[in-house]
Amino acid sequence: MKRLWKKIASSANRAGRNVESIKLVVVTKSQPVEVVRAAIEAGAKVLGENYAEEGVTKIQSLVDFSAVEWHMIGHVQSRKAQLVAENFNFLHSLDSLKLAKRLDRFCGEAKRVLPVLLEFNVGGEESKSGWNAFDEGRWQELLGELNEILLLPNLQVRGLMAMPPIGAVAEDSRQFFVKLKRLQEFLMRQYPQVDFSELSMGTSLDYEVAIEEGATFVRVGTAIVGERNYKNMERE
Ligand SMILES: *Cc1c(COP(=O)(O)O)cnc(C)c1O
Repeated sequence: MKRLWKKIASSANRAGRNVESIKLVVVTKSQPVEVVRAAIEAGAKVLGENYAEEGVTKIQSLVDFSAVEWHMIGHVQSRKAQLVAENFNFLHSLDSLKLAKRLDRFCGEAKRVLPVLLEFNVGGEESKSGWNAFDEGRWQELLGELNEILLLPNLQVRGLMAMPPIGAVAEDSRQFFVKLKRLQEFLMRQYPQVDFSELSMGTSLDYEVAIEEGATFVRVGTAIVGERNYKNMERE
């Protein structure tokens, strides 16, 4: 993790940014709880999980580490909304109005406010979740649903998230990170009263490029905790 923070710091430097503006989400999906514990002991402050039940199992096993934050970064199915609302500190992957309404209801019942990021499909891929934001000319059409989300009392919108198409090299992701940043600026103009300051983008492959383009959260798994053991992976 030390090595990774060095690279984060030099990317920030290159972009003239303060390294303190960047938060590292250590992605531990499909990793056993011992690996997560070791990551925390090595200094991880924010853990990223993709599957609600797997994440909750780990949260419950590691309650003693009360200072760490648990971030949900994967697609949340409707029927998992309650688990997420009750157990996670932050959601990076809010991808529909329907999910937003369910989360808001469960957060209300649990008397919590959940900070969320809006996930955008900046590459316009069929298979990806998130609001389709490939075509800049159609960004205006996103505002109808966003208006409703912004009114939900128990969700606190904090910014944007994207998972661009997987490229051959890190540089392939840059255009998509630039697009997410532009979309952030567009939303900030539309909603000057809303805090859209967080940008969650970049994985093991391309976090350095993401930082150069303004990421405030990078989500890094394999580069820190090694390859995933897919046999452990819980399918929902
Ligand atoms: C798995 C995952 C990551 C981390 O990917 P690595 O290649 O292991 O760094 C980041 N973001 C999301 C949404 C993921 O599902």
